[in-house]
Amino acid sequence: MSRFMSARHAALTPYTPGEQPRDMAYTKLNTNESPYPPSPAVAAAAEREAGRLNLYCDPTCAELCRKAAALYGVEPENILPVNGSDEILYFAFTAFGDETHPFAFPDISYGFYPVYADMCHVPAHIIPLRDDFSIDPGDYIGLNENIVIANPNAPTGMALSVSDIESIVRANPDRVVVIDEAYIDFGGVSCVPLIKTYDNLLVTQTFSKSRSLAGARLGFGIACQSLIRDLNTVKYSVNPYNVNRMTQAAGAAAIDDNAYYMENCRRIVDTRANTARALEALGFTVLPSCSNFLFAAHPAIGGGALYRALKARGVLVRHFDKPRIDGFVRITIGTPEQMDILLGEIRAILQEGGSQA
Ligand SMILES: *Cc1c(COP(=O)(O)O)cnc(C)c1O
Repeated sequence: MSRFMSARHAALTPYTPGEQPRDMAYTKLNTNESPYPPSPAVAAAAEREAGRLNLYCDPTCAELCRKAAALYGVEPENILPVNGSDEILYFAFTAFGDETHPFAFPDISYGFYPVYADMCHVPAHIIPLRDDFSIDPGDYIGLNENIVIANPNAPTGMALSVSDIESIVRANPDRVVVIDEAYIDFGGVSCVPLIKTYDNLLVTQTFSKSRSLAGARLGFGIACQSLIRDLNTVKYSVNPYNVNRMTQAAGAAAIDDNAYYMENCRRIVDTRANTARALEALGFTVLPSCSNFLFAAHPAIGGGALYRALKARGVLVRHFDKPRIDGFVRITIGTPEQMDILLGEIRAILQEGGSQA
C-alpha cells in the first residue's frame, strides 16, 4: 500500500474474481459464462457502433430501456441499465445502506456482497443458510434491515419461490430488498412482476450468463420509479456513461434475438441434468440446481484437491476455501462435449485414488 491510500479504504479486502488464465487453453468451467457465443446480430450491432466510438454514448440508454422494458413486462422508467449487474449492487449499497442501515444476506452467497458492505461502510448482518444449504425465509421476516438475496443463490444454485420472496419483501416494508436474479433464466421464477406492487423491491439481472455477454458488461436494475430515481442519483454522481455504445447496441440486439438465448438456456438445463446424473453415479453429492452450474462434493476427495487435480489436467472449476463449503467445487455447465471432458478427467482422478493432488 502507498502512503497515500485513504484510511477509509486501507483495510478493504477486495473481491477475488474467478481465474481468467492465459497460460493455456483450459476447458473453462469456473466463472459461469455461457459456452455459446453471442448471436451474429449482436456481433454485427456492436461492430456498427465501433465506428462511432469518438462520440459519447446515450447516458439514458433510451433504446435499450425501451427494449428491456418490453422484455421484462415493465415500463422504461422501471429500468436502469448498468455496467454488469455488479454495478447495480454497488449503487444499491451506496444508495440504501449506511452505518445505521445494514444489509442482511446469507453466509454462503455471492462473494461481492460483503465487499460492497465494507466498501460502503454498511454493517453486514450475516444469516446462516440451513444445514441443507437452503435459505430459511423465516430468518428474513420483520428484520427491518436492507436485504440482498441471490435467487437462485450462488454458489449453491438453489432457488426460493416467488411467494417466499414476496413474504420477505412484504415483511420489511421500510427497507429495500434486493433480489439478485443473475441465474433466473436457468429454472427459477422471476419476481420482476412484484415491482408493481412493492416500492421496496429492487430486482437485478445480468446479460453475462444467459445472454452470452459477460465480456460486454451489461446488467439491469428493475424497480419502481422512485427506487430507480435514487439509483440514478448515484449513477450520475459516479459515471453517467456507464454502459458504452457497443454494449448498448449489443444488448438491444440480444433482446431482439431472445429466442436464440432461450434455446441456449434450454440446452444448458438439459446438459445440467445429464451432468448431475453422471456426477451422482460417480458418488458425488450434487445440490439441486436452478442455475448454469452445479455445486458438488465427493466423499473421497476434498474440494481443493479436486480443483487442483482438474486444473493440472486442463479443466478449470471453482473452489471456495470457506467453512461449510470447502468440500465442494462449483462447475459451470458448458457444452455437452466440455462436460464429457470434465467427467473423463474426474473418473481418472478418482481411479488414481483422488487425494494425491
Ligand atoms: C455473475 C453474478 C453477478 C454479476 O455479474 P455481472 O457480470 O457483473 O453482471 C451478480 N450476482 C451473482 C450472484 C452472480 O453470480
